[in-house]
Amino acid sequence: MNEIRTDFKLRRELDKMCRVVFHSTESLEYSIEDESLDMITVKFTTVDDNFFTQSYSSKLTIANVKVILGRVFSVPPLILKILDSDENDISDEKPLYTFDVELYGKVELFLLSTDPDRKILAENAYKDLVPVDVITVRVEDPCYPEKYRELIVEIEDRRIKKPFLGGFVNTQTHLEYHNGYSQTGPPKPKVPPWMKNHRDTQTYFYRSRMYDAHYERAQQMANENTWIPNVNDKIMQAGPYETAEEREKRIDLPEKIRRIQRYFRAWKMRKALRALSDEYKKRIRLEKEYEEFLIREDAERRRRELIAKVFPRTKEDFRMLHAMVHRWKLAEIRKICENFSGPAKISEFYILLEKEIQLLNTIDKQRQKMKEDYEMKKEEEFFLTIGTPLEWNSNYRNLYVQMDTLETQKARQYHDLFRTLRDHDLCKERRLNALFNVKKQLQDQDHNCQLSNEIVELIDRCCVLISRGFEYKQLEMLQKRIEHLLMKHLNQRECNEGITNRLVRVKEKVMHQDLFLCQRCQKLKSHNEFPIDSRTKLLRICNSCIWIDKVQQPPINMAPYAYILKCIRREERRKGAQSSVAFVLGNEDIQYIVDHIWHGHSALSECDDIHALRLARWEKDKEWSPWNCVLLTTEEIRNHNQLEKFEGAYEYEFIEKVQHKHLDGKVYFKKAYKYGNTVKYGVDWSKIEGHIDFVAVNSKVRIPPTCH
Ligand SMILES: [Zn+2]
Ligand SMILES: [Zn+2]
Repeated sequence: MNEIRTDFKLRRELDKMCRVVFHSTESLEYSIEDESLDMITVKFTTVDDNFFTQSYSSKLTIANVKVILGRVFSVPPLILKILDSDENDISDEKPLYTFDVELYGKVELFLLSTDPDRKILAENAYKDLVPVDVITVRVEDPCYPEKYRELIVEIEDRRIKKPFLGGFVNTQTHLEYHNGYSQTGPPKPKVPPWMKNHRDTQTYFYRSRMYDAHYERAQQMANENTWIPNVNDKIMQAGPYETAEEREKRIDLPEKIRRIQRYFRAWKMRKALRALSDEYKKRIRLEKEYEEFLIREDAERRRRELIAKVFPRTKEDFRMLHAMVHRWKLAEIRKICENFSGPAKISEFYILLEKEIQLLNTIDKQRQKMKEDYEMKKEEEFFLTIGTPLEWNSNYRNLYVQMDTLETQKARQYHDLFRTLRDHDLCKERRLNALFNVKKQLQDQDHNCQLSNEIVELIDRCCVLISRGFEYKQLEMLQKRIEHLLMKHLNQRECNEGITNRLVRVKEKVMHQDLFLCQRCQKLKSHNEFPIDSRTKLLRICNSCIWIDKVQQPPINMAPYAYILKCIRREERRKGAQSSVAFVLGNEDIQYIVDHIWHGHSALSECDDIHALRLARWEKDKEWSPWNCVLLTTEEIRNHNQLEKFEGAYEYEFIEKVQHKHLDGKVYFKKAYKYGNTVKYGVDWSKIEGHIDFVAVNSKVRIPPTCH
């Protein structure tokens, strides 16, 4: 069957609806013989020269056919007109079998419409998908080429009529609506892949991928029809052939590697050199700065000493002045002894004594003045301490609490009263007023103590003198007496309305733990009133008793020794030796080392200028101590520190002399030597025999909140 010619639309509809069965010629003929008598195929041609076929029972009349066609085209049968092949009108009563049936039971008729508005067109015949049962197919005759045979092809309608398995029926239109779920058959059974006899399941799937690049590939060449730009082209020309050895020799890779390494090493070297040079410059700068600092500090010290000589303020300053006077006196005595003899010498000594007395008087006057200042400062501090409200951090929300008690308020009132009384620049009326206020307060409080009576008496006398026109300078002593008595009265617990209660409580508490008996004056004193140095074993004699001893001895200026100690400590701290014995020693110890061990002059140059001398480390890698030190000038110390070995630089005798002095130091500072050795091994200080735990106490009494 080579060609099937049929109407396109018809074929499409048929494909959709029916299964086309092509019978063989024999079977077709057989079917015609059997069934052609009953069924007649009518081929209708419409006005547009299209045609369609329908098969009917041969017993049907034209009227019946018209009714069927009317249903097919949805028109009333009356307007239909059927003509035979000669275009003659056919009577309605004429049955189909009366027609001249062709070989395959086919009748050709014309179908027209009498109504011009309703045209009958062949394409409308299948609108309602009336299944076609027979079609005519023209095929090439295999026996006679270029001759065609027409075959009748029957189309079997195998659509099944769906049984009503569920759904509903519209009672108005009587249309059945089938339930989609119940109408759908069960799903296909799931068959595992290994049970499937299918090519896809039985064929192994290969995937191949290409990894190698193409080594031959088509390329486009420029010719007349194709223009390819060659601007970026690189024209390569084959050079002369060279072997692998020649090529390696020409490229010379090891040499290049060596060169890179050489450059890299040079770069690294330059970098390291730069860093080192920076470090070197930094060290030089720091060294210079440190030296400048030392010079500056030395100059500052000299300046301070000069000021202290002119305006002495501290105990040390006065000691220095006394030392100066003593030195001057000794020099004068030596001069007199050398130059004079007999009565002249006696008279010179007398003049010297007078001069010395004068100098000492001047110094003592200054001292008295300083003492007064100190007393005044002490009084101010006393009032500040008792007048400051109590302050503490509360446990409740860590609040800062400040409590102004009646006592502190009263203390501030007394302070105001005292301040106005002590003001020396007041005019006459205001001075009288201040004195009157004090007297009024004493009388209001009904004091009957001896002090208050004395104060009132003195105030009365002072007021009378002021009213008689005496100036302050004339009344100074009287005024001071009043102040002093008032202060004494304020310190009397029965008369001061409890303003010193807190202070006394604190003092008692401190004294409870910290009281030592002075074996000379038999007084109980706190530890800060005793001298403490590295050789102290017990607190025996208080500072004031020692002062009396010192007055009898020639005075010594301790400032240079203090400075030497300061230098030692700074150096030790710089070198990271925090446990050095230098932090235990005091100024007196240094004075002993300098004056008694090293005899006050440099070990090398015999320089005896105490301001130029320093105590340096003997062995620079060990911590400073009295048994590892040497007294040298600053310049000598610089050279000494640069020495790697003493042998060769110093004579054997000199080294031995230094070692002897170290031995002296060890013997004198036996206790410190013992401590120094134990500290190095990290022994607990509290376990050391005879150790006293000293508490740092400031000059100003601090009142803890627990003492309210
Ligand atoms: Zn009193
Ligand atoms: Zn004493």
